[in-house]
Amino acid sequence: MKILNLILGDQLDRTSSIFEGGPDAEHHFWMAEVAEESTRIWSHKIRTAYFIAAMRHFKAELVERGLPLTYRTFEDTKDTPNFASALEKDLKTLRPDKLRMVPPGEYHLYKTFTDLAKKHGIELEWLPDRHFLTSPKAFREYAKGRKQLRMEYFYREMRKQSGLLLDADGNPEGGKWNYDAANRGAFSKSGPEYLPQGKRFAPAPITQMVLDEINTRFPDHPGDLDTFDWPVTPGQALEALDDFIAHRLPLFGKYQDAIWTGEPFLYHARLSCALNVKLIDPLTVCRAVEKAWREDPERIPLEAAEGFIRQIIGWREYVRGIYWLEMPGYLQKNALNATRDLPGFYWTGETDMACMKDALTQTLTYGYAHHIQRLMVTGLFSLLLGVDPRQTHEWYLAVYLDAVEWVELPNTLGMSQYADGGIMASKPYAATGKYIQRMSNACASCRYNPAKRTGEDACPFTTLYWDFLARHRDTLSANPRMSLQVRNLDRIADTELAAIRKQANTLIESR
Ligand SMILES: Cc1cc2nc3c(=O)[nH]c(=O)nc-3n(C[C@H](O)[C@H](O)[C@H](O)COP(=O)(O)OP(=O)(O)OC[C@H]3O[C@@H](n4cnc5c(N)ncnc54)[C@H](O)[C@@H]3O)c2cc1C
Ligand code: SF4
Repeated sequence: MKILNLILGDQLDRTSSIFEGGPDAEHHFWMAEVAEESTRIWSHKIRTAYFIAAMRHFKAELVERGLPLTYRTFEDTKDTPNFASALEKDLKTLRPDKLRMVPPGEYHLYKTFTDLAKKHGIELEWLPDRHFLTSPKAFREYAKGRKQLRMEYFYREMRKQSGLLLDADGNPEGGKWNYDAANRGAFSKSGPEYLPQGKRFAPAPITQMVLDEINTRFPDHPGDLDTFDWPVTPGQALEALDDFIAHRLPLFGKYQDAIWTGEPFLYHARLSCALNVKLIDPLTVCRAVEKAWREDPERIPLEAAEGFIRQIIGWREYVRGIYWLEMPGYLQKNALNATRDLPGFYWTGETDMACMKDALTQTLTYGYAHHIQRLMVTGLFSLLLGVDPRQTHEWYLAVYLDAVEWVELPNTLGMSQYADGGIMASKPYAATGKYIQRMSNACASCRYNPAKRTGEDACPFTTLYWDFLARHRDTLSANPRMSLQVRNLDRIADTELAAIRKQANTLIESR
C-alpha cells in the first residue's frame, strides 16, 4: 500500500478532498475510536456517543462503497487508547509510503499527527478542508495589519465572497448588513405561544449499539443517553435542516436571545453537531435558508434569515480563524488572572439559582444549551466568579455534543470569559441578574431577587457583577466600552460597596 488516508470523527464529509488523488489501488483509509478523546476531558456520554454513532454510519457507507478501510473500534484500541499509539501500531502492518489527511479540528491532534509522521520519517500531506468558506491561511492574511479583528467586518467579507443575501448590485438585502437589533426579543409573561418541537431521530440499530456500548464503557461519565435523538447521517441532517426552515426559522430571529425555563431548544436549529462533524456543509444550510426567505419573505422575515446566516458564515468561520491564528498560546491566556475553581454544581445542576439549575440540568440531560444560556448564564456566572478560564473551557468541551476545540475554545475563553483580553470581544459580557430577568422567566420562580445586590435574597449574579467591576476596575476603566459601567460603579457609596464585596466573598467561599 502506498497512501494511508486518515479520517477523524469530525471529518465525516462525504465529498472530502480525502477521496480524491490518484488511482484507488494506491489508497487505503484509516479510522479509529480511541478512549482518550473521551477521557482526556471527562466527556458527556452524549458527546462521545454522537461522534461514534456518526463515525459508524460513515464506516458502513465506506464499506458499501468498497473502499479499503481499517476501522479500529474501542475494543481494538483498548491497549492503544490514543491516536498516536493506535496509528503507530497499524503503521507496522500497513507500511504506507505516505500519510494524507484534512487538518484536525484541535491543535493537539494536529501536533500528534505531525510529530508521528516526523518520528517515522513518513511524508504527511495536509489536504484542503472544503467544508469551510475560508481557510486558516486566508484568515491570517485577512488579519494581517488589522489592529482589531471584529466579527462584523469579517462577516461582510464572507457575505460578499459567498454572495449570500446580496441584491443584484452586490449590496446587502434590505440595505443593512446586520439586523442584530431585531434579534433580541423576549417572551411575554405567558411564554412562547407557538413552539413546534424539532424533528427527533429515533436511534437506528447502529446508533443503538453505540449507545449501549457507551453506557457500558464510560459508566461514570456525566449525562445519560435516554434522550438521544440527534441526526447522525447526512440524510438526517438535511431532514433536520428542512424541519428547522419549515417550523422554527420564522421566529428564530426575534427570539434568538430569549430563554424559557424547561424549553431547551426554542426556535434554534439543533444543527451544530451535524455541522461540526461535517454531515452537512455551511453553504448548503445558508443557501437553503436564503432560498426559503426569497420564496416567502412574508413568512420568514429578513432578520431571521440574516441572523441565522450571520451565525454560520460570520461567527462560526470567525472563531475558527481566531483559533488557528492564536493557537497554541491561546489556551494559556488568562487576561483577568482568574484562578478560582469551577463550582462542583456545574456537574450536577444542584443549585438554588433557578436560571443556572435550568441551564445546567438541560445541558446534562441533552448535551445542549442554546447560545445565550452558554454565554449569559453558565458563562456569565463563571466570569463573575473569577473561575480559571482553563477549567471553564474544559467543562464546555466536555458537556456539549457539538464541542470541538476550534469552535468551543474561542467562544468560551474569548467571548465568554474575556481571558484573551479582547481579541474576540471588545468588552467582557458582564451583566447583573436583571439581564437574565429581562430575557427569561427564571427569576419569577427563583428564591433570589435580581434587583438586589446585598441581603439574604440578593441575586448572586448581581452581587458578583459589582464585585467583578470593583476587582477589575483599573483594567476595565481603560476600555471605553466599559466606561458607563465603571461610572455606575463609582456612584456606589463606599459603605455599600464594602457590603457588596463582603457578600461576594461569602458567596465565593461557599461555592
Ligand atoms: C461559551 C460558549 C461555548 C460554545 N461552544 C460551542 C461548541 O463547542 N460548539 C459549537 O458548535 N458552538 C458553540 N457555541 C456557539 C453556540 O452556542 C452553538 O453553536 C449553538 O448553541 C448550537 O445550537 P444550534 O445548532 O441550535 O444553533 P443556532 O442557535 O440555531 O445557530 C445556528 C448555527 O450557527 C452556528 N453558531 C451560532 N453561534 C455560534 C458561535 N458563537 N460560534 C460558532 N458557531 C455559532 C452554529 O453552527 C449553529 O448550529 C458556544 C457558545 C458559547 C457562548
Ligand atoms: S434571581 Fe438571579 S439567580 Fe435567580 S434566576 Fe434570576 S438571575 Fe438567576
